[in-house]
Amino acid sequence: MEIKRAAVIGAGVMGSGIAAHIANTGVPVLLLDIVKPGAADRSALAKGAVERLLKADPAPFMHPKNARLVTPGNLDDDLGALSECDWIVEAIVEDPKLKADLYTRIDALRKDGSVVSSNTSTIPLAMLTQGQSERFKRDFLVTHFFNPPRYMRLLEIVAGPETRSDALAAVADFCDRRLGKGVVRCKDTPGFIANRIGVTWIQSAVNAAFDLGLTVEEADAVVGRPMGIPKTGVFGLMDLVGIDLMPHIAKSLLATLPEGDLYRRLHREFPVIQRMIADGYTGRKGKGGFYRLN
Ligand code: NAD
Repeated sequence: MEIKRAAVIGAGVMGSGIAAHIANTGVPVLLLDIVKPGAADRSALAKGAVERLLKADPAPFMHPKNARLVTPGNLDDDLGALSECDWIVEAIVEDPKLKADLYTRIDALRKDGSVVSSNTSTIPLAMLTQGQSERFKRDFLVTHFFNPPRYMRLLEIVAGPETRSDALAAVADFCDRRLGKGVVRCKDTPGFIANRIGVTWIQSAVNAAFDLGLTVEEADAVVGRPMGIPKTGVFGLMDLVGIDLMPHIAKSLLATLPEGDLYRRLHREFPVIQRMIADGYTGRKGKGGFYRLN
């Protein structure tokens, strides 16, 4: 199979970046999101994402000439256009029920031979495909991009026992040769490889910062550069990722990890972080986070 046209569903931090990255290869991309309540322009969410990508500083995520390759739309009106897409990437909120509902809708519209993949951070593929059609299971993969998708080289790919080998090969080849990714094939385990390790590291660092009474800057100075994360440290990383993603990840991992797993033992919630999320301080995508926005 050849990927000539793609779609990305979810125009948030990851979906918009993935759409831009695909468009930069010259492949047209449909970028869909849900309609915000009360929105006059039903495609406003996806259009706003494209605008932000063009303005991103210091490096634009998308060359302006490629912006015309991204067609913003909304889920309710434009889902039918999925029938023209060869590869559909799902990048909506990290919630297995919402993802499953969306897959059922996608499956009714997509063409035979198309591939669907999820950008889930933590949810096992077997859980995502539960209750879906046999056709869907054959055409489904996890393609886990890292943030920011244009610059992070790692891409984890997970295939299920039913996944077609030609679908896996086509997506892996596109990600390797066209998107320039270092593709790592992972087993279907909670958090796959990178987040299984990474989330445990984040939780451990946050616990230590609170227990030792460190400032955000002190904690990041200790766990940033010395551990090979020079730009952000741990709190800066959460600002980049989206602080509101963390409770979704925790919920997913606590539901799937085996008893006695290290993350289970480390997991703690901090009311100040819950309050930040409730007040819209979700990081760079929100009003700011542990660090102020410039
Ligand atoms: P986000 O909150 O920035 O964006 C999610 C988008 O999905 C929003 O624009 C929202 O309006 C939309 N959405 C929510 N429910 C929807 C639905 N039912 N149908 C259509 N659109 C819907 O989230 P994100 O950080 O981009 O994460 C998206 C996915 O990527 C998640 O599965 C997450 O675990 C994964 N992921 C995130 C990161 C990261 O650093 N943020 C990294 C790797 C993987």
